[in-house]
Amino acid sequence: MRFLDRVRNALMRFMYGRYGNDQLNRALCVLILALYLISLPLSLIPMVGSVLRFLNTFLWFVVLLRMLSRNIERRRGENAWFLSKIGPATQALRNHKMRQQDKEHKYFTCKNCSAVCRVPRGRGKIIITCPKCGREIRGKS
Ligand SMILES: [Zn+2]
Repeated sequence: MRFLDRVRNALMRFMYGRYGNDQLNRALCVLILALYLISLPLSLIPMVGSVLRFLNTFLWFVVLLRMLSRNIERRRGENAWFLSKIGPATQALRNHKMRQQDKEHKYFTCKNCSAVCRVPRGRGKIIITCPKCGREIRGKS
């Protein structure tokens, strides 16, 4: 245990003042894994396989550089940019999953303003007035 504690302390000292891991790095690791899995069958084609391997190595290099970087503000900016780009997609995915799990309600999207209206299921054919723009939405609940 003493040896492992010394290794842990040495690693903590090494990483002190460095950026570490974040969501962008994790997404890059997932991309690296996906590229690796794609490159396995494609490596039979000589040029494609080497390009994918080069891209994989480059992405590993980027991940390591970001992790060990001491320019924390810049790395945070990159991560914030990434989160602003991926945020709406993850939110839409989360909403979709939540709507599928909700068996009590039916969701209608207004064609005029894209507002989402939630109504109880099992009420037959209904006419909903959009609370945002006032347009009528017809549907079966
Ligand atoms: Zn509307």
